Amino acid sequence: MSHISETIEKLNKELPPEVKLVAVSKFHPLESIVEAYSAGQRVFAESRPQELLSKVRSLRERACAADGIYSEETACNDIEWHFIGHLQTNKLKMVLPYVSMVQSVDSLRLLVAIDSWAVENSRVIDVLLECHIAQEEAKQGFTEEEIVSVLDNAMDFRGIRFRGLMGMATFTDDETVIRADFSRIKHLFDVISAKASCSAGTGMLQHFNQLSIGMTGDYRIAVEYGSTMVRIGTMIFGERH
Ligand SMILES: *Cc1c(COP(=O)(O)O)cnc(C)c1O
Repeated sequence: MSHISETIEKLNKELPPEVKLVAVSKFHPLESIVEAYSAGQRVFAESRPQELLSKVRSLRERACAADGIYSEETACNDIEWHFIGHLQTNKLKMVLPYVSMVQSVDSLRLLVAIDSWAVENSRVIDVLLECHIAQEEAKQGFTEEEIVSVLDNAMDFRGIRFRGLMGMATFTDDETVIRADFSRIKHLFDVISAKASCSAGTGMLQHFNQLSIGMTGDYRIAVEYGSTMVRIGTMIFGERH
């Protein structure tokens, strides 16, 4: 068995059943995705519009190439793609038709643009709001206050289904810092979820139930803090080049 399929099997055994494994395939070749797919993996994430688009297209071409007849079997067309990178508003067309979720909505401007695209295209897009929890300046995302304020106006976004929060902990070996970061986002998630269940009648946040925290280096800690989705790249596919 290959490293990729072994690792997926191992993670599936280790992760609690309510935690979804998202395989982060950015910078890795199509063959690695196909290999993970063969091991049963169905949810993949990419962080660059062009790379996502070219992988989606290559998978389709690959399915058609063999004998000119489109083959469901080789198309991997039940892959669920998530977008997890910084998304510019002029790139929406390259991404939104192909993904089932945008995990990295990090500004009001982007949210408004996704909403307009969705309404124009008669779609509803599942999104996670990216919350800035790390100590580093460089990481993207809303502040906790901004997230509360966006969700107070959730009904303004007819094309958006608010599914939850995404966060990245500080890049450090210091576990206490990582725990503090996860603990903050978990608290915010719980506060919003509690509000959502009080206003169940209005329903705007009735699908708000996803907390996407945890990567290769910190997914075990993230699970302790209630992660419902771990985004794992390096551990499955190896180093990125
Ligand atoms: C690249 C990336 C990951 C995966 O990181 P690994 O450390 O390789 O598991 C997870 N989340 C986001 C947002 C990423 O950009």
